[in-house]
Amino acid sequence: MTRRTLTIAICTSAVWLPLLVVAARGQQPQGDPKATEVWEPVPKIVTPGKTASDAPSDAIVLFDGKNLDQWVSVKDGSSPAQWTVDSKDGFFTVKKGTGNIQTKRSFTDYQLHIEWRIPTDITGKDQARGNSGVFLASVGTGDAGYELQVLDCYDNKTYVNGQTASIYKQSIPLANACRKPGEWQTYDVIWTAPRFNDDGSLKSPARVTVFHNGVLVQNNYELKGVTQYIGQPTYKKHGPAPIKLQDHGDPSPAISFRNIWVREL
Ligand code: MG
Repeated sequence: MTRRTLTIAICTSAVWLPLLVVAARGQQPQGDPKATEVWEPVPKIVTPGKTASDAPSDAIVLFDGKNLDQWVSVKDGSSPAQWTVDSKDGFFTVKKGTGNIQTKRSFTDYQLHIEWRIPTDITGKDQARGNSGVFLASVGTGDAGYELQVLDCYDNKTYVNGQTASIYKQSIPLANACRKPGEWQTYDVIWTAPRFNDDGSLKSPARVTVFHNGVLVQNNYELKGVTQYIGQPTYKKHGPAPIKLQDHGDPSPAISFRNIWVREL
């Protein structure tokens, strides 16, 4: 090899060798990675709770184990709501016959955490076994609203669009993740409220995602309207609304709730 050929060989490999190495690694040899970096807006800092069940720093605590000051009785608007609080152990129990209770505050889109427990001495079957419910937006008295069903379905057969974690009479849950009566259970909910046009027509339907004891049971489900016990669900224009808990009329022993918090989105 002459000196000239050697020089050309060295120069050529100096150019191609790094490119070959880069190509061999499957990387893009050209372009500016900074061109696709986004630096603003910077997400706000939220200090998480000790566990995923504990309220993060920006949550509105709706029940902290002490009282029902954040809740009113739907029947007469009295506050605190009339259900029975056990402040020693930090939970409250449905007081059958007093009716539903709902939050003083109204909400639009939110993330909700709520825990509930079916008593160990539960009786009854089908829909008459630990029936309650979380109305994700209360749009009137009684059971008016969009109901996420609460029921004991650990060993209890009922219609599947009315079982635990169903959007009552609309959406069957993706799984039955019930724990045994006596054990605390969790719902973690992402609620996107429906939007309406000025003339009252529907602009965009409500959507909901629900985890039951950490298991995905409703996956961005698009609601057909407010819950109807009889007939088809329909929409009627409304704005921000309270979250409501159900005092169901069945005679089975009352269920309990604790650790309720919400993050507005
Ligand atoms: Mg119910």
